[in-house]
Amino acid sequence: MEIHGRAPTLQWTVPTATRRRIALFSMPFQGHINPMLQLANILHSQGFKITMIHTEYNSPNHSNYPHFTFKSISDNFSEIINQLPKKDPSFYIKYLNSSCVDPFRNCLAGLLLEEPIACLIADAGFYFTQAVADELKIPRVVLRTSSLGCVVAYGVLPILSEKGYFNPPKEDYETSVPEHPLLKFKDIVKISINPQGMSEFVTNMHNQMKASSGIIWNTFKELEESALETIHQDFPIPNFTIGPFHKYFSASSSSLIEQDRTIISWLDTQAPKSVIYVSFGSVARITELEFQEVAHGLANTGLPFLWVVRPGVVSGSEWLELLPEKFLERVGDKGRVVKWSPQQEVLAHPATGCFWTHSGWNSTLESICEGVPMVCSPCFVDQPIIARYVCDVWKIGVLLKDDFERLGIEMTIKRVMMDDEGEEIQKRIHCLKEKVNLSLVEGGSSYRSLQSLVDYILSF
Ligand code: UDP
Repeated sequence: MEIHGRAPTLQWTVPTATRRRIALFSMPFQGHINPMLQLANILHSQGFKITMIHTEYNSPNHSNYPHFTFKSISDNFSEIINQLPKKDPSFYIKYLNSSCVDPFRNCLAGLLLEEPIACLIADAGFYFTQAVADELKIPRVVLRTSSLGCVVAYGVLPILSEKGYFNPPKEDYETSVPEHPLLKFKDIVKISINPQGMSEFVTNMHNQMKASSGIIWNTFKELEESALETIHQDFPIPNFTIGPFHKYFSASSSSLIEQDRTIISWLDTQAPKSVIYVSFGSVARITELEFQEVAHGLANTGLPFLWVVRPGVVSGSEWLELLPEKFLERVGDKGRVVKWSPQQEVLAHPATGCFWTHSGWNSTLESICEGVPMVCSPCFVDQPIIARYVCDVWKIGVLLKDDFERLGIEMTIKRVMMDDEGEEIQKRIHCLKEKVNLSLVEGGSSYRSLQSLVDYILSF
């Protein structure tokens, strides 16, 4: 059974008498809504009252959270989203940062008339909220939903854009970027098709993060120690690394799409660590040709697989009509295709042996927490940076080289699932999994950081 609104029980809580209200405001995308709702649950368990402000577009399901108050602000994003360039998230974000100003201000001002609010916790991407918080004289803490390493890399993006690095000659693709040697030129190309828009967004977001009262990160110190040092220098305000948020609970609770739970009983019939789990998250898209190469590549491994084909993952397609002819008959019971999965449970299942992912930050953290090695196919924004950390820093995954070409897919998956290299990856990711667990128990880094965060909010 899926657990939705049940708040977790941690070892310490703020006395109920001191209960204060916090208002939280998430960006309306799955990868942002999940960590914001998880954070709200964590803070609720610490004795705070929660008001979630959200846009009408991608509204979370209120009935899953009977212990929260919800306030919806009007926006016409549903009508406009199809007219915005799909591959340019900076465009959406700019739009939201201007269209939400008045409704958000009115909503927050209305809430303040009802009851004092200890602080606003806003998604860092909603950079406009700092001016509103200042105007209404309420402290603003931000939630940054990506990794520390990504934010460090984003710091140099405006310089890279000025230098024309988003448009390098093809022969430079494999060369490291001098200003950030972890990244290659081909990674920069992937981050955005609109370098100027992306740089403008990053500059606005980082300026308003610096102006905030503090930053909450969905990561843990031991994973990103060196990036944390840079973050402390670049953002000299309180930083709280209290993640991974989803580990405070027993199951995922904030899915916007219905999760197909029938696959758990199928996983139960598979051998330990035998199944390839494939999902490219809630936003990434692939072409028709790539979709067919994925299908052939998976089938050619001969290994069992669970493939999440989100409707619309191929532009213009309904769902499975673009699969190669007789594909499902050919793979039979070896393969399962679903629209959306209970991902955290799939990754935690003993049968899951490898996660072929788009390297979204939530997916990456979820994989680390369950010790599942990754094959990485980053699509855009922070994903190419996260994939570099996974493959070249933590060495817990392998980057798919010839993107979406059937032989490359088959070979790369087999490297992770069957080769000695895969065993080494497995050992390293298990070591990280143990570090995650230690960070969350009493005395651990995330545990202590959460205590500091609670004390900090109570000090406002
Ligand atoms: N997710 C899910 N079912 C799926 C695929 C994804 O519940 O079939 C969840 C996943 O557990 C994660 C989120 O959707 O929490 C995706 O976030 P991520 O940051 O990985 O990627 P995004 O969707 O933002 O690109």
